[in-house]
Amino acid sequence: MHFDHTLESARKLDATDELARFRAEFLLDDPDLIYLDGNSLGCLPRRTIPHLLSAIEQGWGRRLVRVWREGWMEAPLVLGSKLARLLGAREDEVLISDSTSVNLFRLAIAAARARPGRHRIVSDELNFPSDLHVLQGVVDLLGVGYRLELVSSPDGVSMPADAIAKALDASTALLALTHVAYKSGYLYDMAEITARAQRSGALVLWDLSHSVGAVPLDLNGCGVDLAVGCSYKYLNGGPGAPAFLYVKRELQGLLRQPVWGWLGSRHPFAFDMKFDPAPGIAKFRVGTAPMLSMQALEPGIDLLLEAGMDRLRRKSVTQTEYLIFLAQQWLTPLGFTVGSPLDAAQRGSHVSLQHPEAYRITQEMIEPASSPLRVVPDFREPDNVRLAAAPLYNTFSEIHQAIARIRDIVVEGSYRRRSVEKQAVT
Ligand SMILES: *Cc1c(COP(=O)(O)O)cnc(C)c1O
Repeated sequence: MHFDHTLESARKLDATDELARFRAEFLLDDPDLIYLDGNSLGCLPRRTIPHLLSAIEQGWGRRLVRVWREGWMEAPLVLGSKLARLLGAREDEVLISDSTSVNLFRLAIAAARARPGRHRIVSDELNFPSDLHVLQGVVDLLGVGYRLELVSSPDGVSMPADAIAKALDASTALLALTHVAYKSGYLYDMAEITARAQRSGALVLWDLSHSVGAVPLDLNGCGVDLAVGCSYKYLNGGPGAPAFLYVKRELQGLLRQPVWGWLGSRHPFAFDMKFDPAPGIAKFRVGTAPMLSMQALEPGIDLLLEAGMDRLRRKSVTQTEYLIFLAQQWLTPLGFTVGSPLDAAQRGSHVSLQHPEAYRITQEMIEPASSPLRVVPDFREPDNVRLAAAPLYNTFSEIHQAIARIRDIVVEGSYRRRSVEKQAVT
């Protein structure tokens, strides 16, 4: 694709954007704010507001305990079936529950125990730290002999399928990876890696936190065993929205997840003393779901289904291509390097731009001393300005203005006023 660096050309790209109408679906009403952090906390869909208010007033307020019988008790399964369409999964394979970290823990334990005699769990060093912490905890709990092995990346950006495959052997119980790397945005070859891991006899678990709602997914087509993911990023489910888990239908009977609770039992309201797991995906439930957060999820999922993942991916690829084009024009001469794959086929929907002063530059972008225009990216250690193009609502003009803003901050040196002390949340 050919781009040029004028604002007019950005406006032309917006004028021909087939998804342009979706921006108005979001509460983005501050003309001086450019939000490029939709992969950290997605925006608020306008329809979520009445939906949630009704859940509060009608559901909780007026129906009280009766509301559990009016669809709320099954909501984690029903919403899971809807989300399954974005995952390329069957409708009885997805459950909304808990947080990504907790779901990862439960499925990793279940997977390791389904492969007795195999004591290695394999992941890689591009994975999100929380996932690695969870896997360390899994190995710690499983006990003597179990270990976690991390494959290293040749360049800190990408992870070739061959490097992963080399780490797999007859002692590998589980391969657990994140499908789009949180820092570089590297997009793994799910089909190839899954097939090779399964050939070694291991189970495969993908974390879809940075891919769901950003890239098309085909869990069934790739034969994926297990997956988890987050719903407050590109799914726009709201801060701390309940996460999801996927278990391939053929494995649901075999796996035993370690946290047994009444809602994962066959007849929760029989109040039996003895645990008898529910059939199917329901046995991965534990306790009562946070229903208000659960209600907030649905409008975000609906919007993505309406837009269609193929159209979203097309726009996302054009936007990240455009972002990288502008960064190479304006920022490379100022000491930036692109910390993401240059090949769009290997890239999710975010791009990291590396600079030794990345932290102070992001602070100046978010709270500028002199410009009315605020741009919100996030900073990722040690030197990344991470910018997400959320194709449901970000425009080409925003990307143009954001990269121009970074250029101006560096050229003017205004970031030097900022403290190098890091804040608790970056
Ligand atoms: C965002 C994200 C998480 C978040 O986990 P929580 O349990 O919701 O805090 C986990 N893993 C990956 C890869 C993520 O990107």
